[in-house]
Amino acid sequence: MSEMKVYCMKNGLNVDSLKSDLIYTDDPTETFNFPSWTVLIRHPEANILFDAAAHKIPERQMVLVLENLKMKKEDEPPARLRQIGLEPEDINLVVLSHMHCDHIGYIDAFPNAKILVSEAEFLYTMRDYGMYKSGVQKDLKYFIEKRPNWELIPGDFETKELVPGVTIYNFGRGHSYGMIGLMLDLPNSGKKFLVGDAIYAAESIGPPLRKPGICLDMENWLRTVRYIQKVAAEENAEIWYGHDLDQFNSLVKSSEGYYD
Ligand SMILES: [Zn+2]
Repeated sequence: MSEMKVYCMKNGLNVDSLKSDLIYTDDPTETFNFPSWTVLIRHPEANILFDAAAHKIPERQMVLVLENLKMKKEDEPPARLRQIGLEPEDINLVVLSHMHCDHIGYIDAFPNAKILVSEAEFLYTMRDYGMYKSGVQKDLKYFIEKRPNWELIPGDFETKELVPGVTIYNFGRGHSYGMIGLMLDLPNSGKKFLVGDAIYAAESIGPPLRKPGICLDMENWLRTVRYIQKVAAEENAEIWYGHDLDQFNSLVKSSEGYYD
């Protein structure tokens, strides 16, 4: 097993979001707060970033996101890297769980990084862009001009080792067109299963199961949830949910330490 260090980087808080968008609730007016975060994997073979947070540049971001996102300068991914002695240039790979606005904001901040994303996610998101229907219309226009070094993860495999101890899981359709997760095999801290927004929070899977309001394909969301639960049980892995504030608060943050 290669030696790696895993850092949970806090990239701000999304406040007063409508809870029913993410997790079923009896009260349609209920709001809640959820963390925006990224995971850095310092690995002997590559520095890997899982997701790239939301940014707060008005010209590129939706008004609703800007209004709800509390992100200090120190929360921005490049700042978080510098706090632990890395520069944005040191990132080799950015793995995107999907291409929603709170996950792709800083992909242009890492000049030497390859951006890995599900092929289906990329193709359908670009289709939506071409039809002026994307939720990240302004971001995509900006990124296309910046020419990121994209690498697409095909849908015909479910798992693939990225580097020793880090495995890509291709969940397919569900929350979005193509969802990606990572399994991290950590000798001391145990296995961590990063599932992104395939499961927003522990509350989503209950029991009882609480379906998200925003979901592209509910049938496949359910299939993915069952698959993740099965894999996590078989591998004895801890699931790290996409936006679970309670879980996030319990994790060691990059400013405090790391998992290894
Ligand atoms: Zn999200």
